[in-house]
Amino acid sequence: MIRVLVSGADGRMGSETVKAVLADNELEFVGGTSLMNVGKDAGEVIGISSLGLPLYGSLNEALKMAKPDVVVDFTTPAAIYGNVKTCIENGTNIVVGTTGLTAQQRNELDEAAKKADVAVFIAPNFSVGAVLMMKYSAEIAKYLPDVEIIELHHNNKLDAPSGTAKMTAEKIARARREAGAEPAPDKTHESLAGARGATVEGIPVHSVRLPGYVAHQEVLFGGYGEILTVRHDSLDRKSFMPGVVLAVKKVDSRKGVTFGLEHYL
Ligand code: NAP
Repeated sequence: MIRVLVSGADGRMGSETVKAVLADNELEFVGGTSLMNVGKDAGEVIGISSLGLPLYGSLNEALKMAKPDVVVDFTTPAAIYGNVKTCIENGTNIVVGTTGLTAQQRNELDEAAKKADVAVFIAPNFSVGAVLMMKYSAEIAKYLPDVEIIELHHNNKLDAPSGTAKMTAEKIARARREAGAEPAPDKTHESLAGARGATVEGIPVHSVRLPGYVAHQEVLFGGYGEILTVRHDSLDRKSFMPGVVLAVKKVDSRKGVTFGLEHYL
């Protein structure tokens, strides 16, 4: 059995993760952390029956008390760097779903994790469909290098653009460079700043935030008299759980930082 602690256990993703861990017969849920529900029973807080396990207010304390093999973190961009450092210092592997870590932070954490012989797995998106959307978008960009991304999320999301949109843009830009494929020049003169979205590695990314959405993305490729659109929709947070469970089971196999679910598929 792999002992799993969920950081941010009472959040939208954290509570789904607790349920997915409880449903898997190779995993054991050993506790969680929270800001608002410290000391309360984890099961009661997420709306299932009592589990007899309290939610801790600090990750450091939770690691010492619950002694997990793996932490799964779905908290906030502001907390995630510190949480990964805490796991590395305690010698505990961590699976990160929280978005917001920069490439430089990932490099720093990789160095620290390798020194401590700890595994850190980071996925901007745990859904298999989204991983395939990114893979095929990178492939298409070699032939249709004019690309824009529209990502659409619920209005409680804290960061923009989404981690998935950034990762998609990075993969497309790399594939485009390697193929020597140049996008056509953009002749727009912006009359209003931001009208063309944010630019990630030369690719415009437009972020929509509205109640009703979960997590969605369109990658639009323009050609001569044609448009190719690759679209992915996560309609329910359950769509992320097979990927989270897979990562928990595989994380120990790669020390240091591993970035992207494709490494485990
Ligand atoms: P959420 O519902 O707001 O949950 C956030 C959780 O983090 C709550 O348990 C909250 O505790 C806790 N928290 C808030 N601030 C904290 C802090 N400073 N230190 C420690 N814990 C803190 O958010 P969510 O929708 O679950 O999303 C969480 C993260 O996952 C976001 O970064 C989101 O972009 C990302 N995400 C990733 C994927 C993926 O596939 N990788 C998919 C969806 C979302 P309280 O409730 O007690 O305040």
